[in-house]
This record gives sequence, C-alpha cells and structure tokens, in this order.
Amino acid sequence: MRNLSNIKRIMIKIGSSSLVRDDYSLNEPVFVKIMQQFQKLKENGMDVALVTSGAIAVGMHELGLSKKPRDMALKQACAAVGQAKLMEAYNKVAEIYNLKLGQILLNHDDFQFRKRMLYLSNTLDAMFKNNIIPIINENDALAVEEIKVGDNDTLAGLISPMMDCDLLILFSDINGLYTKNPKIYSDAEMIKEVDKIDSTILSMVSGATSNVGTGGMETKIDAALIATMAGVNMIICNSFELDRLYDIVKGEEIGTLFKAKYHEISSREHWMIFKANSQGAILVDKGVEKALSERKVSILPKGILNVKGEFLSGAILDILSMDGIVLAKGISNYSSKEIESILGLSSKEAEGLIGFKPKKGVIYADDMVILKEGYYGRFVK
Ligand code: GLU
Repeated sequence: MRNLSNIKRIMIKIGSSSLVRDDYSLNEPVFVKIMQQFQKLKENGMDVALVTSGAIAVGMHELGLSKKPRDMALKQACAAVGQAKLMEAYNKVAEIYNLKLGQILLNHDDFQFRKRMLYLSNTLDAMFKNNIIPIINENDALAVEEIKVGDNDTLAGLISPMMDCDLLILFSDINGLYTKNPKIYSDAEMIKEVDKIDSTILSMVSGATSNVGTGGMETKIDAALIATMAGVNMIICNSFELDRLYDIVKGEEIGTLFKAKYHEISSREHWMIFKANSQGAILVDKGVEKALSERKVSILPKGILNVKGEFLSGAILDILSMDGIVLAKGISNYSSKEIESILGLSSKEAEGLIGFKPKKGVIYADDMVILKEGYYGRFVK
C-alpha cells in the first residue's frame, strides 16, 4: 500500500477516449462509475473535482461528423454542442447519487493574469464550501491558438494546485509509466513510484529512441512536473480502474505515482515558469550566461545584446543565451523601447538616458526564475 494519508481534496482527469465509444457516442457506464466513486469519496469526507475532456468528440457525434474537423471554427462549434451534452450526461447521473455539479470553462490566459486566478480560486472555494463538485474543461469554443492550454492533462496540472488538491489522478488508456514501450518490449516494466522527474524519466518519454514515445505520455509528464512542483501528488492509471478510485486514493498500488515536492519553488516562481507566457526576450552575453549558471543575478544593460518583441514594463521575458537557450524567465522593469535604447551601455550611461538606477537592473535577481535545462527547460516554447 502507498502512504497516501491526509488526502483531503482530489482532482480526477478523464480523457475523451474513456468517455465516448468508437462512434463518439457517450459511454454512459463510465459516467456512472465516476459519480459512484465521487459519492464514496465525499461520504468519507473528501472533496472532489473533475477535469473532463470529450466536448469536441461528443459534439462531433451530435453533428454527425466521423472525423475531427480541421476547420477551427467547426471544431469550436462541436465543442459548444458537446460541452452542453457532456454536462447533461454528468448531471443526469449526479442527481441519482445526490451530487451537485458546477461547470468551469478555462483558457490559458485565465492563468496569465494573477488577479483572474484569484477570482477563480475564490469561486472554487465557494463551490467546495457549498458542496458543489467543479466540472472543469478548456473553453474550447473560444480556444484559439494564442490562448489555449491545448490538452487537459496540462490543464489539470495547472489547476489542481490552485484548488489546494493533494492528489491528481489522470485516467486514460495508459496503465502508467513504463521503462520502455510495453507494446514493443516484453521486458518493459511499469514504474510504481517516481520520486523526481529527472532526465532518466524524461528519456523514457521522449527522444529519437523513445521507448514509451506516445504523445499522450508527454503531456502526462508535463502535468506531473507542474503538479508535483506545486506540492500535489499525481497518479497516472488506466480508466478501466475507475471503479477502484476510492481504493487508489486509500493507497492501493495502481498506476504510477509521482510524489509531490514541497517548498522547492515558491508559488510566484511556479506561476512564472508554468502559467505566465513570455511576452518578449532579451539576449544576454557570455558573462551573464555564466553568472546565471551559478545563481540568480540582476541583469544590467551592459550584458544585454538584443531585445525581441514589443512589451511594456512588467512583462515576463525569456532571458536567452547567445545560442538561443532560455536560461531564465524574469519580470522586466523596462519596456522593449527603453531596453533597446540602453542595451550595451554602462549603468551610468543608461542612468543618464532614462533614469536607470545602476544597482538594480533591467530584471532584478528577485524577479527571476532560473530554468534548468532538461528539467524546467522543456516548458519553454
Ligand atoms: N478540451 C478538449 C475536449 O473537451 C479535450 C482536450 C484533451 O483531450 O486533452 O474535447
């Protein structure tokens, strides 16, 4: 048995393939299993929340489409139709189990603004206090490229810390994380517990000689990194284990557990790394690159070679090496125009130009997070 005591709030994520049949019609028994298990968890004093996929698939069935449309607007129309059907299906079963549901639809820009996150967090709090189960999905009807999270594994990873969840369980068509692709290698072994997501774990998921190289696993590892770094345990398991949800929460060794990390990064750093998209970049010289490999340092104009993008002060920036590697992310004290006018100058010269304070810098050391390559680095688009 796993030691999963003190679990009070659980987030479940369920993928489209588990919710619909081959013809995209609703797989009703799955909805029953989810609500049955939710009732059991709630009876035992736990809060639950669900991130559900399936809106586009269900909408396709409603519109009589057999293939996912390429046209963005039609895909969004499918989501609009499907999301309503999906909620109808959940509500039908929830009523039988005496459960109350509420719908939350999100896009990535909801995470970008900390104020909006606070509102969301207040709404979710009120829902839990009033015994309402949040049913969450991406707002696909509005999700265009710039604002989309893209997949619900990542969405679940992003939102579970905001909801103070102790455990996130991703139910999909994958049993867990294997040392090699189990479909190809008979000696592939399932990993029961991952303590740290390091390069060995990443190599099992991606790379040219990828073993478990399914796209599905990549987004799950991304979600695991986002969740565990914010102190949330995460389990990947197969959705045929849905009716054992309660047992899993109680510590039954099903699937792969990624253990939560505590106090490794602050919530501000977590926000900068995972939730805030960069609005521009500065290119720094070798000296700054070397300093950043050792510790956080304020970036002075002298060490900046170039600036990319148009932004105002307060923007989140990528700090790039001369080879284009993202070394860190930070909050800019200056607009792109101001940085352009002072880059390469000594602090004294810069101060003369725009009132720049020599010791402080374009980005303060305290307003920055270092991206260790192969660890957080993979999140940098
Ligand atoms: N939000 C999408 C939907 O409901 C699914 C995204 C995903 O499969 O991860 O159809």
